Amino acid sequence: MKYVSTRGSAPALDFAGVTLAGLASDGGLYVPEEWPQFSHDEIAAMRGLPYAELAARVMQPFVSDCLSPDRLRELTAKAYGRFAHAAVTPLTQLDERQWLLELFHGPTLAFKDVALQLLGLLFEEFLERENGSLTIVGATSGDTGSAAIDAVAGLDRVEIFMLHPKGRVSDVQRRQMTTVRAPNVHNIAIDGSFDDAQAMVKRIFTDRDVTAKHRIGAVNSINWARLMAQVVYYFAASLQLGAPERKLAFSVPTGNFGDVFAGHVAARMGLPVERLIVATNVNDILHRALSAGDYSTGSVTPTAAPSMDIQVSSNFERLLYDVGGRDGAAMAEQMRGFEAERAMRLTNAQQEGASALFTSMRADENDMARAMRWACENCAEIVDPHTAIGLHAARESDLPPDVSTVTLATAHPAKFPDAVERATGTRPALPTRVGDLFAREEAYTELPGTYEAVRDHILDHAS
Ligand SMILES: *Cc1c(COP(=O)(O)O)cnc(C)c1O
Repeated sequence: MKYVSTRGSAPALDFAGVTLAGLASDGGLYVPEEWPQFSHDEIAAMRGLPYAELAARVMQPFVSDCLSPDRLRELTAKAYGRFAHAAVTPLTQLDERQWLLELFHGPTLAFKDVALQLLGLLFEEFLERENGSLTIVGATSGDTGSAAIDAVAGLDRVEIFMLHPKGRVSDVQRRQMTTVRAPNVHNIAIDGSFDDAQAMVKRIFTDRDVTAKHRIGAVNSINWARLMAQVVYYFAASLQLGAPERKLAFSVPTGNFGDVFAGHVAARMGLPVERLIVATNVNDILHRALSAGDYSTGSVTPTAAPSMDIQVSSNFERLLYDVGGRDGAAMAEQMRGFEAERAMRLTNAQQEGASALFTSMRADENDMARAMRWACENCAEIVDPHTAIGLHAARESDLPPDVSTVTLATAHPAKFPDAVERATGTRPALPTRVGDLFAREEAYTELPGTYEAVRDHILDHAS
């Protein structure tokens, strides 16, 4: 399997190459040259497999000859062995047609663990082979940072510098990053916003003073391996509820468009999917793009669902490329226009291609709180603010009554206790596996919000 850039001019790479590269050198994102296909019978034969086995089966065509089937099974067994639930991503029934897919049973309580636990092992495997090392630089609004740090803490060949905006992540989120004491983990709190931190990270990737000395890697969802690992749970949920004979809809709380793009990949591979609902909060660029073709940035409004408070959804470019004719030169031109204007129109092909499978819905803070209360009062379920936005969209969608909808439960409610308590009156308790989080000592460096301060810190401390 070869991977090509959405902007057409970076070299094609194999799976190991895209895993270590993150972003393509032409600024685009790597996608498989073609989608592997599973037949109806092949999908039916996956029923009843343990999650780690299913994961290896679904991912093998993407990994192709970079890992043997046996080795891939060993890695998935190790990655998913760390989850607190034997089913890894269990389903919970809400009513006769609504289900939750619980993706928060990993070590840091959000769905990011499903992909990052595996990505840490893949980094180690591929770096070992070439006797290399990788310096990861990332920015986080909370969940990616903790999941990435947990996945790579203590690895010999990987070092991680994680930037978070000082005072703007929840206490649970910050402590999940700053209480991890390993020599290869460097936490940095910057004076500034998440967008400031992200802009600094992008600059690091193109700063020759840094890249001449260190190979820089990515852990956010521009990294293809993350999306690949997320395809698996669309298969897992569908098989549990009757695939390939029965089609489901999925409602996905969306920020960077990574999680829902994995659903698109599952459908491209032959999994019957009725619909993918892109659920946004008031930061609704994706809702405007999918409903009216208008992809234009505004300013970010902070909400109780901070992982969805974003302006630009990086992975949307993968969808536009895939449904818009897979023309790298045209995509590069369209994105140049977007980067200059901070706005663009979808082409007719892109709009029609996307609307074949996707719909979208926007939820404000009241919609979110109402969905939390509905789940609490009618189904005895406490859901987190992100999941509540997905649930609102699932319940408001105009799907035929015989279609069941699975809402992706992207975080454990105890990650956002204040918002949950405000809406439901119940303060969710942290699971015992992270119970002493508030007793552990924190370590992080505070830096001013200038690029030079961050770059110099990385150069001084990277080994
Ligand atoms: C990251 C995150 C999202 C958004 O996922 P994308 O893949 O960026 O669309 C939604 N909910 C939670 C809890 C998250 O951590």
